[in-house]
Amino acid sequence: MKYDVVIIGGGMTGLISSIYLSSKGLKTAVVSKGDPVCSISSGCIDVAGDFQGIPDDHPYTMAGREKVRSALMYFKEIMKDAGLPYWGEVFENRSIYTPIAKKRETCLVPFSMKNADGAKGKSLHIISFQGMKDFFPGYFKEDTSDFNCSLFDAGTLTTVGIATKFDDPAFREQFILWLKECRIQEEFIGIPAVLGTKNPQKLIDQIELVTGCKVFEIPTLPPSMPGLRLFRKLKSYSSLQGVDFFWGHGISEITEEENLVTSLIIDQPGRPTIIEGRSFILTTGSFVSGGLFAEKESIRETVFNLPVSIPPGKPRLNDSFFDTEQPLGRAGIRVSSHYQPVDSPWKNIFVAGSILENSQIMKYHCGHGLAIVTGLDAAENCEEYLK
Ligand SMILES: Cc1cc2nc3c(=O)[nH]c(=O)nc-3n(C[C@H](O)[C@H](O)[C@H](O)COP(=O)(O)OP(=O)(O)OC[C@H]3O[C@@H](n4cnc5c(N)ncnc54)[C@H](O)[C@@H]3O)c2cc1C
Repeated sequence: MKYDVVIIGGGMTGLISSIYLSSKGLKTAVVSKGDPVCSISSGCIDVAGDFQGIPDDHPYTMAGREKVRSALMYFKEIMKDAGLPYWGEVFENRSIYTPIAKKRETCLVPFSMKNADGAKGKSLHIISFQGMKDFFPGYFKEDTSDFNCSLFDAGTLTTVGIATKFDDPAFREQFILWLKECRIQEEFIGIPAVLGTKNPQKLIDQIELVTGCKVFEIPTLPPSMPGLRLFRKLKSYSSLQGVDFFWGHGISEITEEENLVTSLIIDQPGRPTIIEGRSFILTTGSFVSGGLFAEKESIRETVFNLPVSIPPGKPRLNDSFFDTEQPLGRAGIRVSSHYQPVDSPWKNIFVAGSILENSQIMKYHCGHGLAIVTGLDAAENCEEYLK
């Protein structure tokens, strides 16, 4: 199998790159060891806490403000086309509820969370599910003077279990009948994000119709359905575009010729698969997904053994684990303005996403935003290289 582009890592970065490159007629494959962080995220797109505070050495600065804007517009177009549209303006943050009833800022949200921004201080009714794990309606009482809650018995306790039940029309009908009897008086209804494993918009419209309230979903603790919906939708959209997926196995070997990587060997027990490519994009993420691996004295990039840039001096972690200013958050791969790793022997490799040096996802609140922007930018540079 010979591809124009082989993308290593099936997270937000790799999937956006794959969709762009296949749309340009390039034969594209994605190789991923496992599911990405996106599948346990809130499904909301954090772009930046404060855009003015982004430093010169951050990947956003290399991409430029116009690229940030156009990449996020591209993401919105894809999601609309895929049937899971997103809401919000690129450089404007909006508030959503967290599962512990605190508000947090994010940028683009699935339509099911669009109404959360207007709910602060307004009369609020929380609908939850009997015995549901890790979701406590009482926490929301503090945010409003006019609060009420109702519990529906879904017959199961987990997020994914309840969401799967909502995929069944008979269950949805039973829920709607129960809801009518609740005679909710409040202006807003917040529901944990379990309204189906797919786009819940039709059900939300129906709930709004029978109650006359403005409805929004609240992301739950992982596993969070909006993150799972986003990941599954992007992956299936990419597959429909003709991208080939090799999922569930790491890479055991790479082959090279002069200054080019020529193929990857996937580590399938008893049946190694060789995937040849004219170019490769590394999007294996940071420490969480295993793109970077910390050893006692060094940090390793796990596929090509590329040099990892590490902030000078010690310690690598501050005393407080939850400090967003962790020096380790700066570790990553240093790239040229074409997303090619510096000090690497190979000319046909590109790198993007949270594995990039100075990303500092936690500090700048730029998780999926950075993945989308650098994933698209690196893909465009790779396309240019292949010309
Ligand atoms: C718990 C949690 C919640 C988050 N919530 C949000 C949120 O709500 N909103 C937001 O904007 N950001 C959020 N973030 C940050 C955001 O999810 C990430 O920054 C972003 O998704 C990173 O995308 P990525 O594609 O660069 O990497 P990843 O999502 O880490 O994907 C890397 C992929 O590469 C694969 N891989 C790794 N090594 C190999 C290998 N050797 N061979 C083959 N494949 C390999 C992995 O299996 C994985 O699929 C969250 C992060 C965490 C940890």
